[in-house]
Formats: sequence, C-alpha cells, structure tokens
Amino acid sequence: MDISEADEPGTCLCGHFPIIEICTIANRVTGARAEVGNRCVKRFLGVRSDLIFTAIKRIRKDITKSLNADAIAFFNERGLFTGWEYVFLQDTMGKRQLPPAQIAKRRALNEKILSAVGKRGFQGPD
Ligand SMILES: [Zn+2]
Repeated sequence: MDISEADEPGTCLCGHFPIIEICTIANRVTGARAEVGNRCVKRFLGVRSDLIFTAIKRIRKDITKSLNADAIAFFNERGLFTGWEYVFLQDTMGKRQLPPAQIAKRRALNEKILSAVGKRGFQGPD
C-alpha cells in the first residue's frame, strides 16, 4: 500500500468522491492497483491511514514536530529509515525539547518523508 496526497481529488474504489488523502492498494495476484480513501483502507486492510496523514500534516505545518507511532511504523516498513533512524524516531517521539543536533536530524527525516509522500506513486514493497 502506498499513500499520497493528490493534487486533484480522486475517486475511491467504493465510488466515494472526492478523496484527497489517497491510499493505493495492489491486488497481489493480478497486480491491479486501486485508489481508496482513509475510511475504506481501514475497512479493507485495517490500516489507520488517517493517523499517518495526520502526522504528515503536522510535520508539513511545523517541520520540527515529531511523527506519531503509526507513521513511523508505516514508513519504516517501506524502508525509508535505517535501523538507527527508526530507533531515533521512537526515542524522540513526542518530545518537544530536543538538543539542536537532534532537532536537525528530526527535520532531515521529516523532509525525507514529505518528499517521499509528495511523489505520486511512492511505492513500498507491498
Ligand atoms: Zn471508499
């Protein structure tokens, strides 16, 4: 499953329109891809994509904010972080007071996420 924020609204697999926060899911057998919204992806896959998008919106508004657990797990599963970065994100999650070097690291990781999500068709292993 990939997530992206659409420039133009899309239509969910269920027919619901418009969807802006789009989850692309692929059928493992046929390889066919479909776009679904937050509510449906939760129903189909049990993924709380709404929480992931909440984290993306928060860091887009303030690049020094931390991700939440759902977003960290989601992007880690897609190979966006090294092992060290994953531990760092978990250790610093929710902390507001960080030394400047850690703020800089958090900022760099947040920018990596925003650029990955911004590219339409960002793809994970699934
Ligand atoms: Zn739907």
